[in-house]
Amino acid sequence: MGYLSARKKMEIELQNEDVENDQLLRAHSHAWNQTYSFIKSMSLECAIQLGIPDTIHKHGQSMKLCKLIAELPIHPTKSHGIHRLMSILTLSGFFTVQEASEEDDDLEEAYMLTNAWKLLVKDNPYGMAPYLLTSLDPVKMKAWHHLSAWFRNDLSTPFETAHGIPIWEYAHHEPNDNQVFNNATKSDSRLISRAVTTECKGAFEGLRSVVDVGGGTGTLAKAIADSFQHLDCTVLDPPHVGTNNLKFVAGDMFEAIPPADGIILKSVLHDWGNEECVKILKNCREAISGDGRRDNKAIAIDMVKMENPKEEEDESLGTQLCFNMLMMLLSNGKERTEKEWAKLFLGAGFKDYKINPVVGLRSLIEVCP
Ligand code: SAH
Repeated sequence: MGYLSARKKMEIELQNEDVENDQLLRAHSHAWNQTYSFIKSMSLECAIQLGIPDTIHKHGQSMKLCKLIAELPIHPTKSHGIHRLMSILTLSGFFTVQEASEEDDDLEEAYMLTNAWKLLVKDNPYGMAPYLLTSLDPVKMKAWHHLSAWFRNDLSTPFETAHGIPIWEYAHHEPNDNQVFNNATKSDSRLISRAVTTECKGAFEGLRSVVDVGGGTGTLAKAIADSFQHLDCTVLDPPHVGTNNLKFVAGDMFEAIPPADGIILKSVLHDWGNEECVKILKNCREAISGDGRRDNKAIAIDMVKMENPKEEEDESLGTQLCFNMLMMLLSNGKERTEKEWAKLFLGAGFKDYKINPVVGLRSLIEVCP
């Protein structure tokens, strides 16, 4: 009865408001568009799995549809689907389409890669394919289906609601999933390493040693060790094997962080809630304050969320809001505004910080004791 009367009420409301037909239809179309926006993500996943970016990249120039179909590892009865797939990916900005010229016999359009697409080529050292595949894998996707259940229960994350254990424990129990996750963070760290070792050299001046806390497979630490050869670099995470001026130490950042002049935290603080972050940062402060040198610091690499509503049209804001949801979903973490960062740093006893917005959507934040 409640449902029917609510529907009736809505109908009357719509009539009273004299909503124009085309307005209603536009709203309907908008709702459809939003409902099906996941299709863009899943098409992207499919294209990577079929190796479409690599095939066009290898071709070295714009590629005709028939040529592309001939090179793809697909069943011949499925060829018709590739044009549809390419259309949606073109709409998402991953290709440009070159119309056939008059002289062309087949009048078939050809596809060219955009810069975004080149990032999906497997051989690209800054490639994002592994990151994309792990974000869309069924394990993570299952957590999205548990988002509303999580809002109603007392578990810490939708991930835990879906899988029964927190994400870091899951990685421990599922070596394959851990491998996929590590490949993803590796590719992201390569991209960040390039910016950090060129644009942010100053942040490492005066330091003799750094510990990359939660440094994963050590990609960033290795790049730093190679670029600043005088630096003694350590990665703190689960056990690994190290070489040269790069060491790996198995440990828990909530327990203790090995002493060093600098502590790096890349994509680590956004994984945690405020209370845990303050705990980690306090341990960082303790690790760098051993010999009281003035240059010692913590270096966080993470997003600084935009606050200015004028920037609403900016695609970056949308990306940051999505990441903010993602962190809540996976690990009860969050993306933070400058004000929120400042509160954490001061709460952990640091005196000052400097934000260098140099790594695309992310910043390198120098945090001083
Ligand atoms: N800094 C890396 C990895 C970020 S993912 C990069 O950006 O590529 C977060 C990392 O924190 C993972 O490698 C995870 O194993 C590590 N981690 C999680 N809990 C930890 C703890 N208690 N102590 C140390 N590292 C931890």
